[in-house]
Amino acid sequence: MRCFVAISLPANEILVKAITENKPMGRSVEGKNLHLTLKFLGEIHSVEKIRKSLEGIGSKRFSIILKGMGAFPNAQHGRVLFVKAYPESPLKELADEVDSRTREIPLDHPFSPHLTILRVKDKRDFSEVISKNENTVFLEQEVTSFTLYESVLKPTGPIYNEIQTYQLM
Ligand code: ATP
Ligand code: MG
Repeated sequence: MRCFVAISLPANEILVKAITENKPMGRSVEGKNLHLTLKFLGEIHSVEKIRKSLEGIGSKRFSIILKGMGAFPNAQHGRVLFVKAYPESPLKELADEVDSRTREIPLDHPFSPHLTILRVKDKRDFSEVISKNENTVFLEQEVTSFTLYESVLKPTGPIYNEIQTYQLM
């Protein structure tokens, strides 16, 4: 099973507007699929073991703010357009906790708190949209849980199936 651990986030009016405006440039993320990845696990065989090992995480709830945009690998030659998430510390602490409980699966990228809204096939210059949204606040949200997802890749876009949701304290 292809799996990842993420914080599910709601699509509000301003996020939907940003997604819709940038849609013509590539493959946009569906509102119901908006998430902040804590760790991409990839293909795993022992889902049950992973599911159980995440149960002991006793991290506290925290608030985040989604503000401004960025692109991977960079603004001028972007493949992924994302909204930035702050503050980094509680997100990083939770991501580290998830990582330490799933040690057998190595991290292939250092954690970077972001919410992907668009993916493009060929690289694109996102400088304009990024500078236009420098001060845009997209969402303020209390994070009360995180989820272990299965990801089924389809030509029409990924389907994320919830395996288990873990409440924060
Ligand atoms: P698609 O691959 O069809 O564009 P997707 O990227 O949303 O869809 P997955 O590839 O299953 O679906 O990825 C699930 C989540 O994990 C996404 O947030 C994705 O950005 C992230 N992710 C995928 N591959 C990696 C990776 N190698 N390292 C870190 N994060 C990854
Ligand atoms: Mg992917």
